[in-house]
Amino acid sequence: MPKIHLLNSRLANQIAAGEVVERPASVVKEALENSLDAGATRIEIDVEAGGAKLIRIRDNGSGIAAEDMSLALARHATSKIASLEDLERVSSLGFRGEALASIGSVSRLTLTSNAHEQGSEGSSAACEGREMEVQLRPAPHPRGTTLEVRDLFFNTPARRKFLRTEKTEFDHLEEVVKRLALSRFDVAFTLRHNGKVIHNLNAASVQAESRRRVAAICGPAFIEQTIAIDAEAPPYRLSGWVGLPTFSRSQGDLQYFFVNGRVIRDRLIAHAVKQAYRDVLYHGRHPAFVLYLELDPAQVDVNVHPTKHEVRFRDGRAVHNFIFSALHRALAEVRPGHASAQQDAATTQTGDGMAIDTATGEIRSQSTLAWGAPAADRTGAFSRPYAQSAPSAAQVNAQLHGYSRLHGLPVAESAEEVPPLGYALAQLKGIYVLAENAHGLVLVDMHAAHERITYERLKAARNQAGIRSQPLLVPQSVAVSQREVQVATQHSALFQRLGLAVEEGGEECLVIRQIPVVLRDSNIEQLLRDVLADLIEYGSSERIEAHMDEILSTMACHGSVRANRRLTIPEMNALLRDMEETERAGQCNHGRPTWIQVNLDELDKLFLRGR
Ligand code: ADP
Ligand code: MG
Repeated sequence: MPKIHLLNSRLANQIAAGEVVERPASVVKEALENSLDAGATRIEIDVEAGGAKLIRIRDNGSGIAAEDMSLALARHATSKIASLEDLERVSSLGFRGEALASIGSVSRLTLTSNAHEQGSEGSSAACEGREMEVQLRPAPHPRGTTLEVRDLFFNTPARRKFLRTEKTEFDHLEEVVKRLALSRFDVAFTLRHNGKVIHNLNAASVQAESRRRVAAICGPAFIEQTIAIDAEAPPYRLSGWVGLPTFSRSQGDLQYFFVNGRVIRDRLIAHAVKQAYRDVLYHGRHPAFVLYLELDPAQVDVNVHPTKHEVRFRDGRAVHNFIFSALHRALAEVRPGHASAQQDAATTQTGDGMAIDTATGEIRSQSTLAWGAPAADRTGAFSRPYAQSAPSAAQVNAQLHGYSRLHGLPVAESAEEVPPLGYALAQLKGIYVLAENAHGLVLVDMHAAHERITYERLKAARNQAGIRSQPLLVPQSVAVSQREVQVATQHSALFQRLGLAVEEGGEECLVIRQIPVVLRDSNIEQLLRDVLADLIEYGSSERIEAHMDEILSTMACHGSVRANRRLTIPEMNALLRDMEETERAGQCNHGRPTWIQVNLDELDKLFLRGR
């Protein structure tokens, strides 16, 4: 065995770099976090060749004093924490003091900074793959910092080989910028690749500007098809946007979750969100969301991962419950004409029948107010569900009067009562119901709508009457671990509530004596195992409910009006009224939309009217 010796600091840094600097995107993440920690309000990112050749990040933050420059590049040197107590309440993005040292050990790094107001007082430090040979010289720089990283991994060929194509590396890098831009609306970001501007995001202070940034980052279709979330249950607050169930994705690629401003990926949170969407999303589809959780920093440990992508909650179960209930509630409200599911993007209603355009500050009276519904988005003229633009009763009223006057139609007996989905006109091919409301035309998929209504009724009936259960003729033994026996005993109340009698049958054995009637044809043993796994991992499980719901959903599907059944006008109107009353009626049991709105101005456009 060779003798034990201390690693030289260059090698130690290169080893640390293995954890922190995986690819160009990691450099950008660390540098942007430093800029944000320094209080920058404008950050410019210039990248060449996907970041492998050059990354230059310029900020207008507090800068670094000349005498601190070489320390900034040293390992375990930070200005952000000084004690263990600081670590427990850390609010800066960085605190480990290793990023610059690590990056400097595997690249040609130049740090230029100025902590004064005068542009002449800056200084610059450079290092080429070794921290000990920092060269400091005066360099003019406006207040703030520029970090330049050239030839990443030039001295670690093994790592360099792991770099992918320019495009792939840039995609990763852009994703980092997007995440941080979603975490700080008050900071302006510019991203350029090979001289071309990719993102130019102005600082956003009002809601409309924030929405514009989200649209720039997540796509305009996302922001038009979201529910705004703002829920609070001290010590937690959840805000942001979640996609309507009908705006689902084939991958979980549009999911951003921030905890106290830090973007994280967390299984617990992913599970809570997924569970909230359980009843409204098509199998295998993923919800889209941008969500912000705020809580006391002492309630969350951010020091569990070198790049801090993961966190640990003091009370994970409470966080899970809070997120689940906030989203579950919001999604239940997705039904025609229901106010909390709708958000008028461009206008804020005042109490006096006027509306303020939050983008322009312009005040308009309601009678001339456009229908909140933005022009057809890029995904197609009629793809936008009604949910985002439903008017208030007063708006409906005003519009109906205006519209009727214009077209010489009689005003309905009592305009106040025009329901959100309007009144049925006809049925098309035995499949679609056509109705007229204040906006124009409503198209309803009769079967999909009826299926959701029946399903919600079956669930309500079950919840009201309680779950009927039956004893098993032959009790079923299930071999499990000791831990699982413990968990099952701890949660016996949960099982009882769901109509399941599960008892300890030995150190490593559970016995099922009674099951819910609806589950008589299900694989109850598998279900029990999955539930126990959930309980161990997340502290809660909705699997049994989910399974029962699935069975009810199938029953609802068979019991619902099939296509090709003729409905009378009163029957159609009854269906529309039921939809307005039913939770989650915006989409069928499989997550498809149940109805769409075709606005009058969209129809006018089709006929080139008013041009
Ligand atoms: P950490 O961020 O964990 O403190 P870093 O290695 O990333 O460690 O940075 C070391 C120190 O350099 C920081 O604590 C900070 O004082 C200073 N620093 C780095 N980048 C900037 C910047 N853009 N503006 C001002 N100070 C900076
Ligand atoms: Mg840092």
